[in-house]
Formats: sequence, C-alpha cells, structure tokens
Amino acid sequence: MRANDDLRGELLALVSALKSHVAAETDSCIPVSRLRLKGTGPSRQEGLTARDAAEAHPGTAAAGRRGASGLDGVRRELGDCARCPLHRSRKHLVFGEGSARARLVFVGEAPGEEEDRQGRPFVGRAGQLLTKIINAMGLEREEVYICNILKCRPPGNRNPQEDEIAACEPFLVKQIEAIDPEIICALGTFAAKTLLRTEAPISAIRGRFHDYHGRRLMPTYHPAYLLRNPDAKKLVWEDVQKIMKIL
Ligand code: SF4
Repeated sequence: MRANDDLRGELLALVSALKSHVAAETDSCIPVSRLRLKGTGPSRQEGLTARDAAEAHPGTAAAGRRGASGLDGVRRELGDCARCPLHRSRKHLVFGEGSARARLVFVGEAPGEEEDRQGRPFVGRAGQLLTKIINAMGLEREEVYICNILKCRPPGNRNPQEDEIAACEPFLVKQIEAIDPEIICALGTFAAKTLLRTEAPISAIRGRFHDYHGRRLMPTYHPAYLLRNPDAKKLVWEDVQKIMKIL
C-alpha cells in the first residue's frame, strides 16, 4: 500500500512538472529552429497574400510589382533624386538593403554620417548594434530588409523636416509594397511617429503591434538610443521576441 502511495506521488509530481514545462514552452518565444522558412507554407493565416499570388502567377502584374523586380523599379523611379533639398548635401543616396522578399523590414529615421559615406543603411555603431539584435533573433542581415524614412542624410543629423518626409516617404511605401513583409519594425521615435501618424512618444507605443496599411508594425527604441541607454536593451529584446513569435 505504501509502495502504491509513493508511486502515485511520483506520477503526480511528474505530471505537474510536465505541465509546467509545456506552459513555459507556450509562453516563451518560438525557438528560431521552428521559424517557418520562406516558401514552405502560407505566409499569413488569412490565406493567399499578394506574394503568394505573384509566386503562383509569375509574369502577371502582381508578380511584376513584387520582390526584386518591384524593388528595382522603385529604385529606378527614385533615380538621382533631387525631390527635396537634402540631395545637395548628400554623398550617397541610401536606398536600403537586404532581402527583396524579407518577412521583416526595419525602418529607421535617416542615414547618418557613416551611412552617407558608404551608401548603406545602419552601418555605423548603431547599425552594428542592430546587426547584433538581428543575429540574436536568429536571422542574418541579408534575410531582413533595412531602410529609413529619408534616403539622404540631413546635415548634422538634424531632425527630418516635413517637406523632406513628404517628398521621400512615398518611396518607402513603394518599397514596402514591393517587399510585402509580414512585419515592420519601426526603430525610434521619429520612424514610429512618422509611420503611425502619431505624436505619442515611443515609450507609450512600443512593445505592441500597430496597424500599418494592413501590416503589423512594432515600434521599438532606436539602436542609437540603446548606445546611450543600455538599460533599454531588455525592452527592445522584449519587443523583438514578440516579432519572433509571429515569424
Ligand atoms: S531625401 Fe528622399 S526625396 Fe529628398 S533628395 Fe533624398 S531621396 Fe530624394
């Protein structure tokens, strides 16, 4: 009788431990190894996306506007842009880089000095931190797409002005349409406020998904802010874990 009671106690303890383990797995982020690879299943639960349609019907209008060819078209349309005064002081126009079929797009504010010099987004100290964040998500820079609201550096890294945003943002919208990502991550106050048309501070809107033309948008702190405020890294990690859960 005593042996039966001991066995029953052990079984109850085992079941309890198993339940805790399952609950922890459910609450935690999805391991990177379980991230769905592109092309191995539907990219959205709602059904066929424009991307799926383009894949299913190559050569159609849907296909022509998406992916690398769509992105190339946006770049050609932008050309040697002089639509706002920033063209006068730039060394390079920083269009953006990464996968033309990325499921995740990072959008920052504008190129800084190093980005202007190299013609590539997020390559300075803040960019190196962004690369670490991407790697910590189990991804490579080449698997996501990285760009900014403005494609030319404001002199002295001053804040972008309204006329500059008005001239440049339509090309960002076209880039996003061409890439057709599932999630956009807005980096910093300026990008989040501009994309979401809000005056709310980043501290009030970060950490939850917002709607951006039918796509999920996660605002979080800019890597440059993290360089000045390392304590905020844990908040950014919380935010990107929510992105990883969706991906
Ligand atoms: S910031 Fe944008 S709109 Fe202004 S010149 Fe550069 S590419 Fe053109």
